[in-house]
Amino acid sequence: MSENNNKQKRKRVCPHCGRKLWMREFYPLKNGGRSSWCHECVLAYKREQYRKHRKVADGTFMHRTLGRLVEHKGYSTRIFWNGNMLSIMRRHYHNTLNRELAEMLGVSERSVTRKAREMGLEKDKGFVASLSREHLLLANARSKELGYPGGFTKGMKFRGNQYTGRIRVE
Ligand SMILES: [Zn+2]
Repeated sequence: MSENNNKQKRKRVCPHCGRKLWMREFYPLKNGGRSSWCHECVLAYKREQYRKHRKVADGTFMHRTLGRLVEHKGYSTRIFWNGNMLSIMRRHYHNTLNRELAEMLGVSERSVTRKAREMGLEKDKGFVASLSREHLLLANARSKELGYPGGFTKGMKFRGNQYTGRIRVE
């Protein structure tokens, strides 16, 4: 071992975990030296700091790729609905298109639908009726364009702007 007295081959004790490890277990630093804590300890520390700082007290955190506040529900990450968003839902859901709500709230139409169901919100019947007429005109124009005149008749059900079938008449 005498000629192997260079720093790379020597062992050192990590002051954090107390293990005696080869130098390669310590991160090389820009200044040419090596970190005092071993690889594993540094990683564990970083992970802990990440959890501490990323997550705020109420369990929500800023999602970098979604660019919005989200919360954890079990294993999945879900949109965090703040009070203002919920109040918009409560005040406008009954007479506003989901597409417009989705735009207002910066979430997907799917999320609006899901949240409304969860909150027990329903569309105003008059609003739905007026919307049906409007959608009917659009749908018929589109169907003529496609060469299927009369493809859509009064009383058809829609989801978003897609017709899904007839509304049951009772
Ligand atoms: Zn260590």
